[in-house]
Amino acid sequence: MRAVLASANPHKARELGDVLDGWEIEPLGAALPEETGSTFSENARAKATFARAVVGPDVLVLGEDSGLEVEALNGAPGVRSARYAGVGASDADNVARLLADLRNVPPERRAARFVAEIVCLLPGGGDVHVRGSLDGFIAFEPLGSDGFGYDPIFVPVGEQETVAELGAAWKREHSHRARAGSALVDSLGARAESL
Ligand code: IMP
Repeated sequence: MRAVLASANPHKARELGDVLDGWEIEPLGAALPEETGSTFSENARAKATFARAVVGPDVLVLGEDSGLEVEALNGAPGVRSARYAGVGASDADNVARLLADLRNVPPERRAARFVAEIVCLLPGGGDVHVRGSLDGFIAFEPLGSDGFGYDPIFVPVGEQETVAELGAAWKREHSHRARAGSALVDSLGARAESL
């Protein structure tokens, strides 16, 4: 099945391609407008709607918005995860800012959650909206290199290593994006055969 993904992040396209077995995920060949929503769902829908306007009604489009919510920061960085240290910030800048913000926060108060929401607009009309999340804790220093964003400082519940140490194979099974992707497949169910 062919799908156009409205995202500028190549990691997301690869991870979703890993999860949506047999799908051919193409990145949208147009710059996305600035994200202005205050929730992941608003941003995911805005991205999907923008992609739909670019590619037309006959192609399945996916809008994905994701980020990290830290309990001790009342849910920040949330929808601002990509630009937490400022517009144009690198992953390393964002990680450094988050670690600085949590400098004096003890282990038992470092709970966090990755969230991914996907809005899928079906060819010819109709849509499916799914969400996936992953609970964990923020580490005290970055560890591991197989991942992106906040992966080097996020330790999932039940694990002893960061997501960037656990790596791509682990993410394919357990990440917030993998969970949203499999919810999408479940929700499309038999309809997927005819798309
Ligand atoms: P956006 O959805 O393009 O607004 O950006 C999402 C941001 O959230 C990314 O730039 C990362 O900082 C963070 N993020 C989302 N998913 C992941 C993930 O799987 N691992 C690490 N960081 C992530």
